[in-house]
Amino acid sequence: MRQYLDVKARYPDAIVFFRLGDFYEMFYEDATYVAKTLGLTLTTRDKGKEDPVPMCGVPHHAVRTYLVKLTELGHRVALCEQLEDPKVARGIVKRDVIRVVTPGVNLDEESLEPCEPSFVAAVAGDARRGFGLAFLDVTTGAFHATEAPTIDALVDELARAEPRELVLDANPLDDGELGTLLRRAYPRVPQARVPADAPREPDPAAASLRALLRGTFDVALAERAPWAVVAAAQVLAYAGATQPGATLPVSRLDLYHRSDTLVLDEQARAHLELTESLQTRRRAGSLIDVIDETRSAMGGRLLRRWLLFPLVDVPAIRRRHDAVERLVGAHEARDRARKHLGDVADLERLVGRARLGVASPRDLSVLGRSLARLPELVAALDDARAGELLGARDAADDLLRLGGGEDLAGDLAERLTSTLRADAPAVTKEGGYVNAGISDELDELAAIASGGREGLVAIEARERERTGVASLKVKFNNVFGYYIEITRSHLAKVEMPADYTRKQTVANAERFVTPELADFEQKILTADERRCALELEIFLHLRDEIAAAADRLLALAARVATVDALAGLAEVAHRAGYCRPVVDDSGVIDLADSRHPVVERLAAAGAFVPNDVRLDPAQEQVLIVTGPNMAGKSTLIRQVGLTVILAQMGSFVPARAARLGVCDRVFTRVGAGDNLARGESTFLVEMRETAHILRYATPRSLVILDEIGRGTSTYDGVSIAWAVAEHLHDRVGAKTLFATHYHELCALAGTHARVRNVSVAAREWKGEVVFLRKLAAGGASRSFGVEVAKLAGLPPAVVERARAILRTLESDGGARGDAPQPVAPANAEPAPQLGLFDAAGKQSPQQDTAADEVLATLRALDVDDLSPRAALDLLATLTKKLTEPG
Ligand code: ADP
Ligand code: MG
Repeated sequence: MRQYLDVKARYPDAIVFFRLGDFYEMFYEDATYVAKTLGLTLTTRDKGKEDPVPMCGVPHHAVRTYLVKLTELGHRVALCEQLEDPKVARGIVKRDVIRVVTPGVNLDEESLEPCEPSFVAAVAGDARRGFGLAFLDVTTGAFHATEAPTIDALVDELARAEPRELVLDANPLDDGELGTLLRRAYPRVPQARVPADAPREPDPAAASLRALLRGTFDVALAERAPWAVVAAAQVLAYAGATQPGATLPVSRLDLYHRSDTLVLDEQARAHLELTESLQTRRRAGSLIDVIDETRSAMGGRLLRRWLLFPLVDVPAIRRRHDAVERLVGAHEARDRARKHLGDVADLERLVGRARLGVASPRDLSVLGRSLARLPELVAALDDARAGELLGARDAADDLLRLGGGEDLAGDLAERLTSTLRADAPAVTKEGGYVNAGISDELDELAAIASGGREGLVAIEARERERTGVASLKVKFNNVFGYYIEITRSHLAKVEMPADYTRKQTVANAERFVTPELADFEQKILTADERRCALELEIFLHLRDEIAAAADRLLALAARVATVDALAGLAEVAHRAGYCRPVVDDSGVIDLADSRHPVVERLAAAGAFVPNDVRLDPAQEQVLIVTGPNMAGKSTLIRQVGLTVILAQMGSFVPARAARLGVCDRVFTRVGAGDNLARGESTFLVEMRETAHILRYATPRSLVILDEIGRGTSTYDGVSIAWAVAEHLHDRVGAKTLFATHYHELCALAGTHARVRNVSVAAREWKGEVVFLRKLAAGGASRSFGVEVAKLAGLPPAVVERARAILRTLESDGGARGDAPQPVAPANAEPAPQLGLFDAAGKQSPQQDTAADEVLATLRALDVDDLSPRAALDLLATLTKKLTEPG
């Protein structure tokens, strides 16, 4: 128990899995907690003593599932192994922790998402001196760091790093602003503490990183981002402590500057459904799901990175477009390249496993065969290039360059495939993975083992003759080794030879050994033991060789990933009919026949109606998008955001033609009513996010506002929406798409030079609303609330009555009650800006208030959000209002 307590004292924040024979045991609080949480049987050690120790255990071969469950709950598990063979150890078997499995640091292939990184992130610094953020994927060695001047920027940046675990210094964690904020922003990301010996200040941090990263550490860059370096040193220290005795597979730190990327915060990522759908929180229905046609895990991860970190540098963006364009044009070569890419295993994670000393013979065998496929991939890419017109070729070359003198690690492929069998197992214990012809000694030992089998047959034949028992058998078991078995029925009939020694009596047979058999056994067993040891030696040597070549292999893996991501984008562009956007610094967004990539995919073929959209900071800076419920407003404004992101990540875009001035940031805000799925319907959140946009948007930003102001009363809502639009126009200058059902906002166009009204058209046809999905100039003149209500199944009598009331109200000349009504119909005179509500309110002295209320309710109704049950209830209330006056 002392040994256990020592280990536990060194890993107080972890649940200790203590290996005892075939089990991992837990003790004390660990045991009570885990037994309760995972439903294990709690027992006690030293029963009968005064305070028995609570204990529970899991079989060692089933440990995976328990590790998965515990890390999913946010725990860290320290695996304490036996370091000696208990059979040969004297005294207490030596044990120590060989690995700590945490939510962010997990090497288990099966619990890792192939196409997602597994980042553990650290945050350093403070509000006065700025913040640093670093995130590391231990499985691949991907390692990024950046700085953020404010907490807001830090939280935004952290969002797209998608950490599985967050490492914080103990102090701000306790009650500091940062700790509180991060806990609120990322309640579901488990948090851990920075190890005590990790650097807290820039100087020691830089020194420790430089020592680790040697030649690749950019001192000059690091000096400009001291807090990024501190965070990087901390995350390394944390991850390093989880792998005692191994070196982390990290050789490069990517220090990036936020302004070198299109900044996407948590709202944008969520509202634009970049990586998961808002409703289901699943990948299905997200942008990545539609555009990910990569064939390898590495390519999938890179594409995700491109999506979350789009570029802003025009030449760099064009380089990716060049490469995609080339691959779009070369159908046959692209198909072939993608087929080969599908045969390439996850080089990054395999190399990572080799470096951490956990790669199995199967891993390395797979690695070897993957590398051996690369020349075919290169040939396909060369063909894609050959089809190209002269002159246009160079730009794409550095992205698509796999061959042409580049390192394909052919030597390593050859070493691996010649050494390891293609069917190499995942465990080293029994050998059987090294090819013949690699080592003379190994071949000899193998010959003895197979000769042994012949020898056994010979012995068996001889003994049968000697005893006259035809059913005599030579057998083997783990306890006695080789023995001769004679069934009981024969025993009485024969005389046992003198050199037979009785070993064991079983139900219907006796077992014997002979000196000859014992000799033979000795020879085979030693040969077998020696063979396993020798295979292991060869394998470990090979693994070290691969680990030593990690930088070469990772550089190669990165090139393969790039090709895969580009080929995938080309495939999407081809299949979905995307066009190459013209990207420049103009600030203009001009889309012809633009579509929504995800809605289009889900719609029936050809059913999606494309639209032209133009935004120009000098002219059409703010577009007020009106139209009835369900017209397609949200879809339209989001598709512009998605198009910008796609273009800047290097993809073609869903449009007939597109010109895109590079944006520095895409902001989104979805009104509370549209955002119930996320469970954050409070008006406060809505306003906080809006404030965030107004504060940080620049003239180069794209702002997408969907029904803001909806989370409060109508007048408040209109007023806030109005003021926000005005501010974006007068002060911020950001390109803005503002979808709203407040027709009052259309009046802004009359008084503000760069505000334009557009509406998504709907027509009434024989009393039914028909959604045309077509964008037209001018504000929507009608909201079609009554027609939508009819669509939703309101009884004809109610619909008729509502229509009659609407007619009276409209002929009244804009009379109004509580409900907002169009102030500035299409192309009408701008409404007076002041007295917008007061004047309107005074114009309606007498009204049928009940009908008015019904109408107001119908207008404000979002049919999408209505369950059948709620619709029935609402209907009952409305009918009651109309039939029981007063
Ligand atoms: P709004 O925001 O105006 O209420 P949405 O944008 O939510 O409307 O669109 C409602 C539905 O109409 C969407 O679910 C989508 O399926 C469909 N839709 C939207 N735009 C189009 C379009 N351009 N072509 C075809 N269908 C569309
Ligand atoms: Mg909408």
